[in-house]
Amino acid sequence: MDKKFIKDLKDTLSIKKNVLLIPHSSPDADALGSCLALYHFLRNDHEVHIISPNEFTEILKFLPSSEDIIIYDEEKDKTHELFQIANVIFTLDFNSLSRAKNLSHLIAKSSARKIMIDHHQNPENYCDLKYSDPKMSSTSEMVYDVINSLNSNKINLNIAYCLYTGIVADTGSFRFPSTTSKTLLVGSKLVNYGVNVTEVFEKLHNNFQFSRLKLLGITLNNFKKVDGLPVIYTCLSEEDQNKYNFKKGDSEGFVNFGLTVYGIVCSVIFIENKEDGLIKISFRSKGDFKVNIFASKYFNGGGHEHAAGGISKLNLNDTEAKFLNDIKKFINEN
Ligand code: 5GP
Ligand code: MN
Repeated sequence: MDKKFIKDLKDTLSIKKNVLLIPHSSPDADALGSCLALYHFLRNDHEVHIISPNEFTEILKFLPSSEDIIIYDEEKDKTHELFQIANVIFTLDFNSLSRAKNLSHLIAKSSARKIMIDHHQNPENYCDLKYSDPKMSSTSEMVYDVINSLNSNKINLNIAYCLYTGIVADTGSFRFPSTTSKTLLVGSKLVNYGVNVTEVFEKLHNNFQFSRLKLLGITLNNFKKVDGLPVIYTCLSEEDQNKYNFKKGDSEGFVNFGLTVYGIVCSVIFIENKEDGLIKISFRSKGDFKVNIFASKYFNGGGHEHAAGGISKLNLNDTEAKFLNDIKKFINEN
């Protein structure tokens, strides 16, 4: 991490500020873990609020103080008031303003000092201060480095719990290629604060409703192989979702099952999204197959080399047809 970033941040936070912490829309464990860790770290010295662009999965409500998170969709007036008085805004776990959805314009027009901490590629330039490193396993690992540099004495169990959860979620429990010896070292340090590693795993992975298991069954059944290519894909239609009481976060991780098949290097899931009136797409890959490039070229998305997302405004059938066409083109070109 850049020394100048820490010095600048120290200066920014040297007197009491009105701070907003913003995760990306439909925030995951890394985004919320980063926000909540900073919330616990800053709240004694500053006026701090976390504002999520929209609702997040029930699964993450075990994170300490997650009940304090303001959901923009539900508290628009309060959000506007907080933006009016904010003088510091952290944007966490995203680097493209559009990922803050309906908060994007509020961030863009705010005169607050804006600070990005993020591990995605190709950061946009909407922040005054940037700690951006695509080699990092997670934003939570980066927030650990920031907090550790600012004042390591203030790290407590709540902070450790939030950061550990974010790191575990983004590294697939310290198994993805982004996991370095330093990631493991940070994990070890966080466990020393008393984090119960079994409990975090149970809360993240073994904490679902029965209906979610049936939804997984349908998704697995829907998998199709692309003729002649090491690519597999599946979908979750609105009808399937309604049948099995689909809730935000239920399909998290489903796409990974495609990569358990011998020889497959790319797995894709198409999920009809009622709320936004579009198809949300998740891409996962192994080895040299860079799904972030594919996602940005053909599906208006992006992400990491092995985990990316995108959208389609076509219906499910037309999206499938477009995908089959695009993936053949992409593989031929690369
Ligand atoms: P997921 O498939 O779990 O939604 O997302 C996987 C990765 O891709 C995450 O790191 C996320 O930040 C990124 N990602 C997901 N959806 C989008 C999108 O619509 N646009 C961009 N640029 N990145 C996305
Ligand atoms: Mn992340």
